[in-house]
Amino acid sequence: MVAVTIWNEYRHEREDDDVAAVYPDGIHATLADALEASHDVETATLDEPEHGLTADVLESTDVLLWWGHEAHDDVDDAVVDRVHERVLEGMGLIVLHSGHYSKIFKRLMGTSCSLQWREDGGTERLWVVDPGHPIADGVGEYVELPETEMYGEPFDVPEPDRLVFTSWFEGGEVFRSGCCYRRGSGRIFYFRPGHETYPIYEHEEIRSILDNAVEWAAPTEGAPRTFGHRDRD
Ligand code: ZN
Repeated sequence: MVAVTIWNEYRHEREDDDVAAVYPDGIHATLADALEASHDVETATLDEPEHGLTADVLESTDVLLWWGHEAHDDVDDAVVDRVHERVLEGMGLIVLHSGHYSKIFKRLMGTSCSLQWREDGGTERLWVVDPGHPIADGVGEYVELPETEMYGEPFDVPEPDRLVFTSWFEGGEVFRSGCCYRRGSGRIFYFRPGHETYPIYEHEEIRSILDNAVEWAAPTEGAPRTFGHRDRD
């Protein structure tokens, strides 16, 4: 089983009734419910000591999911350093929705990670543009989400190694919604669907995609990461 840690800012759900109505126990609890049938799942939140991401927690995490929105700046740089190092060592990272503006994602991408958005509850079609990719296993040609926040291009990220999903919105915009990267030995997947006032993480196909993404992002044994001066063998 893959050891998954789901990190959630967990502020909206405690401050806003509209959000609490959709995610009464927090987005992390809904995501845990989606993943715990096939993975070993723990959760961590911003207001815990060290944001719940101590060195020990990260050491035992294979794949970290990240959901943040209104409090990216409250994330301690020392914790970001620690997560960054673990990604380079091989820990998988799945960055969800508004996590595009998190400190860790911006650091890993090296760009602004900016985009366009509009919260109008319009329809989204999440098209599979890489049907052979393991993250798309079992998904149809597209997933239709009846009520979403629009994210539009340009999305200021480096060209993904693989692009698995592209979204179409009824306002006419498009967006690269499922982007795969490697940094060091770590696999990173950015996945757009989310938003705190729509029950996107209750959607069966979205839950399967997240399940697949955990499997894809899990570390593989690989070879040792050995750097520095080397004597001849
Ligand atoms: Zn949102």
